[in-house]
Amino acid sequence: MEVIKGIPVAPGVVIGRAFVLDDVRERVPYHIVHADDVEAEVSRFDAAVAQAIKDLETARTRAKEKLGPEPAKIFEFHLGLLHDKTLIDPIRHRIVSERVTAAYAVAEAFRDLADRFRAMGSDVFRQKATDVMDLDHRLLGHLVEQARDRLAGVAEPVILFAHELTPAQAASLDPTKITGFATDAGGRTSHTSIVAAALGIPVVVGCQRVTRQVHEGDQVIVDGKSGLVIIRPDMETLAEYELSAERIAGFRADLKDLASLESTTRDGTHITLLGNIEFAHEIDALLAGGGEGVGLYRTEFLYLTSATEPTEEEHFEAYRTSIELLKGKPLTIRTLDLGADKYTQMRAEEPERNPFLGLRSIRYCLQNLPMFKTQLRAILRASAHGPLKVMFPLISTAAELRQTKMIFNDVMEECTDDGIEFDRNIELGIMIEVPSAALMASQFAREVSFFSIGTNDLIQYTLAVDRGNERVANLYTATNPAVIHLIKNVIRASRRFNIETSLCGEIAGDVTYTMLLIGLGLRTLSLVPSQIPHVKRVIRSVDIPQCERLARKVGSFDSERQVMNCLRDELDKVFPEANGGWPAG
Ligand code: PEP
Ligand code: MG
Repeated sequence: MEVIKGIPVAPGVVIGRAFVLDDVRERVPYHIVHADDVEAEVSRFDAAVAQAIKDLETARTRAKEKLGPEPAKIFEFHLGLLHDKTLIDPIRHRIVSERVTAAYAVAEAFRDLADRFRAMGSDVFRQKATDVMDLDHRLLGHLVEQARDRLAGVAEPVILFAHELTPAQAASLDPTKITGFATDAGGRTSHTSIVAAALGIPVVVGCQRVTRQVHEGDQVIVDGKSGLVIIRPDMETLAEYELSAERIAGFRADLKDLASLESTTRDGTHITLLGNIEFAHEIDALLAGGGEGVGLYRTEFLYLTSATEPTEEEHFEAYRTSIELLKGKPLTIRTLDLGADKYTQMRAEEPERNPFLGLRSIRYCLQNLPMFKTQLRAILRASAHGPLKVMFPLISTAAELRQTKMIFNDVMEECTDDGIEFDRNIELGIMIEVPSAALMASQFAREVSFFSIGTNDLIQYTLAVDRGNERVANLYTATNPAVIHLIKNVIRASRRFNIETSLCGEIAGDVTYTMLLIGLGLRTLSLVPSQIPHVKRVIRSVDIPQCERLARKVGSFDSERQVMNCLRDELDKVFPEANGGWPAG
């Protein structure tokens, strides 16, 4: 039995068989091809080379259009290699003479070439070695069964292990087949984790080397609350976890009854609980669980799950469907938040050195106006069908907000000219995710109708800790007094200027923080739908003076540990079954 400690992301216990999504290179065994199939294998190789050349030429053209001729030259080296007979012919020859698979011959030839570059010792040649391996992956990608094909082929329920998944891959998992998952990389609020948590299956990330420790078919347990992955459990551990899974099922069944009850404190204050969604189809479950609307619709997932850029019609359909499903309850659409760890294929080909500090989110939209305007137009069209608000992510300066509002006004005018109906009083808000915006909240409050505090990013930018990096995950916490101070500042500013503030970072769904957030003055939280019953359970067990006392006490601490201990002690008094908090259940 092996026990691995990772970072808990989504609660629950699952026991099952492991399915390991390994690196494509590790699935290139030495295989002899049947004599009759050699010719076909050579054709497969030629087709893979031709396809890789086509892909690279497309990438080069795109880079040239967007970045100019100089940066586009990086593709010349790759293309040069694929046209180089001294590299390609020996691979073809080896497939024929030794009857090895095309994948094997490619892997060997490219590894030799990369080794030769590395042996040359200079940085320039080391970079060339990386380029060679990149090309090797491209070719193997055409020759070996792809990760997505393997995932799509899963027939029986399994527990997925992967080094890392993209948010789009996580979004396409079928929870009836993938009953839990664990990854080597990732942090609690990386976007992959957020999407995974919405699937309602136990998830543990940041397990460092779990994909090397587990073998396909192993019996495994994923404990999403304590962040443990247990490989080949002994009988005693297995029995313990079977009991625990039963207990959790009972606990969840009890919580279901809360859906129809008011989200009100013991002294009668209503706390609005909205849902964070990535797709319209999550709305039914959100409402069934007691959600009162959508506080954050992460619309960039329309891009991430589609190979081509969505059209205005596709945007519009997604928003109109959401409005219909919400039956009069409010919808808050966040405009595209692409970049950082959410890449389209095209962006993946233009890597940035510091993507979280780079061209992401509203900055990306402001540099890609046709794309941004397409979305805004669709939003405006949808606004004629039901209550809808718009919020802009990652605003960090007043100029950025003003430019964004100007573009919004332009699109409004265009819609008017085109005779399109829309809500002329549509409310515009911003996410507060950057310390500059939190510090200047009073200024921003004069120019928008509402704030939504995005603590997932606010924490990372305040503490300079990458939210998706498991190596610094211990430093990433909302219990840091500086983070709490900024949240307080935003709430104070919004009260002074009488605008609404909600909080939609992952801590809104973490019962450890519920009393503190109410005590700081928040009356609206937007959270992962599955956590609504848990948070409501806390709300119904507390009163406002009790929460305010807690907030004052927390405000006097100067260390994360003090804050966390205090929050856990208080939670234990009102919700002992949460057993220390996140993720409850
Ligand atoms: C946040 O940053 O807190 C947030 C809600 O946005 P996202 O997690 O999509 O970056
Ligand atoms: Mg964010």
